[in-house]
Amino acid sequence: MEKTVIEEGLPDHSVVTTCAYCGVGCSFKAEMKGGQVLRMVPYKGGEANHGHSCVKGRFAFGYATHEDRIREPMIRDSINDPWKVVSWDEALAFSAKKLKGIQAQYGRESIGGITSSRCTNEETYLVQKLVRAAFGNNNTDTCARVCHSPTGYGLKTNLALATGNIGKEGGGVNPLRGQNNVQGEDIA
Ligand code: SF4
Repeated sequence: MEKTVIEEGLPDHSVVTTCAYCGVGCSFKAEMKGGQVLRMVPYKGGEANHGHSCVKGRFAFGYATHEDRIREPMIRDSINDPWKVVSWDEALAFSAKKLKGIQAQYGRESIGGITSSRCTNEETYLVQKLVRAAFGNNNTDTCARVCHSPTGYGLKTNLALATGNIGKEGGGVNPLRGQNNVQGEDIA
């Protein structure tokens, strides 16, 4: 049983959600007590994971309520200044002014956006939309691609594969592990 359940007692409700760790997009039942996550249970109805998960999604959810988590927008003029907590309106106006200023001085291609591999697909979609529609360029990427470039290169070089998945569900077998990758992925 999870330490959180031993310490805090049983959950009082649950919410089906998507794991925010990586792009596989596993579904979980987040078991909650009030606003606190007590347990993350892999969701059987999840199309990407069918009730499986890796250790990160299953147990490493402490970041959701960690004391270091930033909960309010903050701005600063320079890296040497202390952070200042501001309203969302002020933070957005500040960011827009700075970004426009950079483009005015250095050109349209001078800025872009990169999302974290912890972002959901929807968040990554919104960032690329902002970059293309508001910044007017195509300078957008996600760090998941950068992180896994060496993985992809290694797989391609050794096994002529670009990813761990081969073909459609039920049709792919990893020759190293003898498992169905699409059913098992790395979450099995
Ligand atoms: S593979 Fe792991 S980290 Fe990625 S979405 Fe699934 S549970 Fe989360």
